[in-house]
Amino acid sequence: MPAKIAIIGRPNVGKSTLFNRLVGKRLALVDDTPGVTRDRRPGDARLGDLRFTILDTAGLEEADAASLEGRMRAQTDEAIADADAVLFVIDARAGITPSDSHFANVLRRSDKTVILIANKAEGRSGESGLYEAYSLGFGEPIAMSAEHGEGLADLYQALRPVVDAVEEHE
Ligand code: GDP
Ligand code: MG
Repeated sequence: MPAKIAIIGRPNVGKSTLFNRLVGKRLALVDDTPGVTRDRRPGDARLGDLRFTILDTAGLEEADAASLEGRMRAQTDEAIADADAVLFVIDARAGITPSDSHFANVLRRSDKTVILIANKAEGRSGESGLYEAYSLGFGEPIAMSAEHGEGLADLYQALRPVVDAVEEHE
């Protein structure tokens, strides 16, 4: 079985764009409306010579404030439990929001490898958000632009040990 990698984060940070970038097809639904990812089939991802299974998540499923946190938690828990490692995506342009901190707390409590991705960092536009991301406590964030395909070499370096470790256990 290939390594399973889950993409986690609040709505609109670019999770589905990253999913599509790694799968190479428009499988996930990308939209400006938060939480539009309805199709959560795993995708066959490739990055250089790495092959792995990638799982997109919505961050939330409906705009119901009362159950929002509960639903985010449930979906995140399910994806984390199933994954060998997590790509935790934040929006470098927006900086760290309370919702990002919520996901960070959930991930901290898990025993999974967390790779922090500061997305929307094309050019130098996400620089301040990139530095803020250090405060989440997952080490050095990877500056990426899922939309423009920037930062993929750094993502490769971070994912390689995870994918190798899973394959060694076969
Ligand atoms: P999700 O809700 O986390 O799955 O986010 P989406 O992938 O649906 O993207 C939300 C919005 O951010 C869309 O308008 C994307 O085009 C945009 N987006 C995604 N990645 C990038 C990026 O690297 N740079 C910029 N500027 N916009 C991006
Ligand atoms: Mg999405």
